[in-house]
Amino acid sequence: MLCGLAFAQAQKGTKKGAAKAQKAQGEEKDRTLGYDDTDVLPDQKWRVHDVFRPRPRIITPGTESSPDRPGRAPADAIVLFDGKDLSKWAARMRSGEMGEAKWKVENGYVEVTAGTGDIITREKFGDCQLHIEWASPAEIANKSQFRGNSGIMLMSRYEIQVLDCYENPTYADGQAGSMYGQWPPLVNACRKPGEWQSYDIIFEAPRFDGDKVAKPAFVTVLHNGVLLHHRQQFIGRTPHARVGTYAPHSPEEPLLLQNHGGDKVRFRNIWIRRLGGYDQQ
Ligand code: MG
Repeated sequence: MLCGLAFAQAQKGTKKGAAKAQKAQGEEKDRTLGYDDTDVLPDQKWRVHDVFRPRPRIITPGTESSPDRPGRAPADAIVLFDGKDLSKWAARMRSGEMGEAKWKVENGYVEVTAGTGDIITREKFGDCQLHIEWASPAEIANKSQFRGNSGIMLMSRYEIQVLDCYENPTYADGQAGSMYGQWPPLVNACRKPGEWQSYDIIFEAPRFDGDKVAKPAFVTVLHNGVLLHHRQQFIGRTPHARVGTYAPHSPEEPLLLQNHGGDKVRFRNIWIRRLGGYDQQ
């Protein structure tokens, strides 16, 4: 960049002006890619606009979903279910026995199937961004907690409730999107039974120091694009009719989808991203 006077002279095209402009250009720092002489930011090792600060990785973003059509995952996501098969999943029976995931897969979705247990991811996850779409059975067969019940069990322990809550009263902290038995969703953003809905979940796994909780789990949840929880803290696990507590576990555990009495909830377009920190490449 040229300073005002030199620029004006350079514009005039005079020899003197050009020389002055060149000198001015040489002396001025190129700030295009950042600064090396600004103040250091509080609690960071970087200066304001630091020229040496690593630039974030480039990710090709996905596309949005609509009730009619699932979107596409971002390029760096792990696709857990693309509508075709359950190769990324295993079954877990109530007895704890493991096996092949046998929920029904058809027409681009997977449907909870009675008597086949929950399904869990073969891979384990901790801090993550999770996208998942679900639909309650179009045919209404029951009420309250027995109408389209399933659940997104983060680390197989911390449940974000799945339930048909369209004109279906139930207890607040058991509604769709609740942190089950702990916090109701901020609003009820449910679509009608049979319609596709989405959860976008950002989860921070708990940290343990021996038997002690060094940091509890936190979650942010959007339901059909509407905020339900904003970095809300889990009290502990999410059992039925009890106050949950923490018990130490690994930094990464499988994601689990709940089979609640065989309620025929459908899922599609499930993807997950592990979360990294700032300034990592
Ligand atoms: Mg549930």
